[in-house]
Amino acid sequence: METTPTEFEFNGANPQQMTDVRRSLPSLDRLIRHSGAKALITSHGRERVVVALRELLQEHRSVGASPSAVQDETLLDDCASRLVRQEALSLRQVLNLSGTVLHTNLGRASLPESAARAALIAMTGPTNLEFDLASGGRGERDNHVEALLCRLTGAEAATVVNNNAAAVLLALNTVAARREVVVSRGELVEIGGAFRVPDVMSRAGCRLREIGTTNRTHLRDFEAAVGARTAAFMKVHTSNYVIEGFTAEVPQRHLAKLAQHYGLPFLIDLGSGSLIDLEQFGLPPEPTVREAIDDGASAVTFSGDKLLGGPQCGIIVGSKELVGRMRANPLKRALRVNKIILAALEATLRLYLDPQRARREVPTLRLLTRPREDIRAQAERLLKMVSAAVGNVAEVSVIDCLSQIGSGSRPVDLLPSAGLALRPKGKSVSAARLARQFRALPLPVVGRVQKGLFLMDLRCLDDDAALVLQLQHLDLTCELT
Ligand SMILES: *Cc1c(COP(=O)(O)O)cnc(C)c1O
Repeated sequence: METTPTEFEFNGANPQQMTDVRRSLPSLDRLIRHSGAKALITSHGRERVVVALRELLQEHRSVGASPSAVQDETLLDDCASRLVRQEALSLRQVLNLSGTVLHTNLGRASLPESAARAALIAMTGPTNLEFDLASGGRGERDNHVEALLCRLTGAEAATVVNNNAAAVLLALNTVAARREVVVSRGELVEIGGAFRVPDVMSRAGCRLREIGTTNRTHLRDFEAAVGARTAAFMKVHTSNYVIEGFTAEVPQRHLAKLAQHYGLPFLIDLGSGSLIDLEQFGLPPEPTVREAIDDGASAVTFSGDKLLGGPQCGIIVGSKELVGRMRANPLKRALRVNKIILAALEATLRLYLDPQRARREVPTLRLLTRPREDIRAQAERLLKMVSAAVGNVAEVSVIDCLSQIGSGSRPVDLLPSAGLALRPKGKSVSAARLARQFRALPLPVVGRVQKGLFLMDLRCLDDDAALVLQLQHLDLTCELT
């Protein structure tokens, strides 16, 4: 049913506003009945059109303009753009041409298609999330991925939580609440500011026992730290930095032996980790989860949306006994994942049963392994169109550049890549301003500014058309300073 704006709609406004609003009512009425308002009402609903028009009229009056001085058509046009702006979602798709494949601020891994399909099914209808179809009784949500994870890693058991930080929190709280965890000083890492090993440790209720030195830690340091309050040894993969020079760390196999000797659990936080050997695809070596399990880790934690290329989650694999205790920890209930994530994770893991298939179908692996020649050919293809679009404000050229893996992967491991460099012409344009114009596109393009150039690394551009379609919306006519 259609409603006409009446007095009751202005309840709550102060008397001053009320008189103002009443004064605008005639024009509001006229605008709503205007033939140009019909289409707006059809696509946005009468209520929203009325609110938007009322806001517009009030804005005109607040700057001292009489609404009657403004053309009805102009007001309706402004109303249309306002409604479109308001309808744009805050969380939107962007083109990641930043050169960092697993960009945490851009949402890390993009899901494989099969995972996205599985997620869609899980989120649009009922599922057997915790329901055993054979018996008709209650099931366990971890069951959908546990067997796959065990097969891919060689572990006895597995569980999944919201992210790797949650996995570390749950593991530590389960094995070491009110007791000590022994960690090498060289591994007290901070990831992206919010995850710091010492802080997670204290929030998990454990006492950190730092041993060794920043550059060197020996097996005897671990041995000397063992006492009545020791609950576990922990190794943290120093994923986002390297310590070079006079260094020593204890091989995890030796640490596992020592832990076993004292009857202590040995935890490894791998951070990214990988389910398969990435060197076979020409990528920098990354420790695999299977190696950690083979070396004798009691539990290994890693992220679902880093090198694995799946949905955001934290995976814990390890001994039946330890994983069982983690599952029974009340914190697990607070940290567990939903059906959408589990569906996407199961489908992603399935691809890893055949590493070649994983390389083709997991976008993260496909993008990371794109050869430079392939990316350079793409840059050559796009050069003319981008040049034409930026016209006389920038000079465009094909360049060789280096991509980063991102998400706590070693910053020294860079991948040869290629892209387009936009060099501003003249003083009125800057690279930062070009970057802003590209971010303002309907499908925002995120590049990077480097040495006075605006760079678009094309490694993560799956589809030329996605960029080409945006070029027509570039607004480089307005002042660019
Ligand atoms: C990335 C990372 C984490 C945090 O993982 P999230 O999935 O971002 O919560 C923890 N530890 C290490 C070593 C990491 O690299």
